[in-house]
Order: sequence, then structure tokens, then C-alpha cells
Amino acid sequence: MTLIEFDGVGRTYAGASPVTALHPVDLAIEHGELTTIVGPSGSGKSTLLYLLGTLDRPSCGRLLFEGRDVATLDDRQVAALRADHIGFVFQRFHLVPSMSALDNVATGLLYRERSSRRRRDAATAALERVGLAGRALHRPGQLSGGEQQRVAIARAIIGGPQLVRADEPTGNLDSAAGDSVVALLRALNDNGAAVVVVTHDVQLAASLPRRIEMRDGQIVADARHA
Ligand code: ADP
Ligand code: MG
Repeated sequence: MTLIEFDGVGRTYAGASPVTALHPVDLAIEHGELTTIVGPSGSGKSTLLYLLGTLDRPSCGRLLFEGRDVATLDDRQVAALRADHIGFVFQRFHLVPSMSALDNVATGLLYRERSSRRRRDAATAALERVGLAGRALHRPGQLSGGEQQRVAIARAIIGGPQLVRADEPTGNLDSAAGDSVVALLRALNDNGAAVVVVTHDVQLAASLPRRIEMRDGQIVADARHA
């Protein structure tokens, strides 16, 4: 079954001068797919990614997650769907500065796991997966940008999501740190998660199996290659 399906999904931001950030589009993301979204600034990439992550609701059309129409779910059910199935990675990491790496990662299970002991054990394992077992007690300010993004990835994957969506995850990193973030996203995908990543990095986009290109709120190209 398709993981996520956009059935005529569009998004217009209301206001004095409304902005149609995404014109109605049909789009399917399959289980285990590794996809990039590219396009100029303002073309609607983040809007598409917010909708994909159920962080925003469409202005028109239907968004199906494993065949379920997200509009039929109440807020609590959408929050549960997100917590159980979707991992989020952002350009600016969004870590809590006062919390250790371990505790930041453990917040990824807050909505699912009541036992703080089990959250911490899972966080330890997730930090190991991103190669940061030795930094568990460091705060974000004591870590490099690349390390902070890896902590954010550990937080995103702690619950074993089916989808990881990352909005310009290498945008604030130097190329070496960016490469290690990309390698992690690939490893996640090898383990079965669908990964959708917005990027400005043309080399990265060219190296991934599917590339969706946006312009002025529309998908202008969608190519899969071996
Ligand atoms: P991208 O990520 O490709 O840079 P966005 O999806 O962030 O593009 O934005 C697409 C368009 O929608 C832009 O013109 C932007 O100004 C507008 N936009 C984005 N978010 C909002 C919002 N919350 N309210 C109004 N307009 C918005
Ligand atoms: Mg954006």
C-alpha cells in the first residue's frame, strides 16, 4: 500500500493577500522511498513537507496516510499518527538548549512511552546509531552543528518511524558534517524508512533515487532513476 497519497491537495495561506503556496497536486510516496524535493526559495517545498508530515492541513483535496484520510482524524489521532510513524528533522535542529543530548533524544518518545527509564534506554540506543554515544550528557551548545543535527536525527528515529522528513537538514552545516547527515539518512532508508528531504544541494539531489522539482507552488518535474 502507498505510504502517503496527495489527492488534489493544495494549500493557500489566508490573509489580506492570500498566497497559494501549493497548487492542487496528486502525489504518492511509497514505503521505503528515498526522495528529494528541490526548487527555488519560496517555491513551496516547506509547505509540501509540512503537509506530508501532517503538521498542517490541506486547504483542498485529501491527504491519505496508508489509505486513511487524515481529515477524518481528530487532533489527538493526528498527534498519535505523527508520534508513531513520522520523524522530523529541521534545518535549525530545534533542540532544547538546557537539555542533554540524551534527554533531547528521549523527548522523541514522550507521546508514546510512559516509563522515563525506557525512554532513556531507547535514547541511548538511538544516540549509538548516530555515532554519538560518547556525547550523551553534552548540551546542544557543547556540540558542533553536525553533532547537533545527528542528535536531532536520533530524536527523529527513536520511535522507528515509517517516514522521516527533513527540511534542508544540511543547510547550516559544512560539507563534511553535511555528508555524515546524508549518510545517516541513507542508512535509515536502507533500514526501510521512507525519507523525504528538501535540499539546495544539487549533488545530493542528483544522487538520490527520486527527485521532485517545484516552482511557484507546482511540481514541475518528478523523476525516478536507478
Ligand atoms: P520554500 O520552502 O520552497 O522556500 P515555502 O513553502 O516556505 O517555500 O513558501 C511558499 C510560499 O508560501 C512563499 O511565497 C511564502 O512566502 C508563502 N508562505 C509560507 N508560509 C506562509 C505562511 N505561514 N503564511 C503566509 N504565507 C506563507
Ligand atoms: Mg523552505
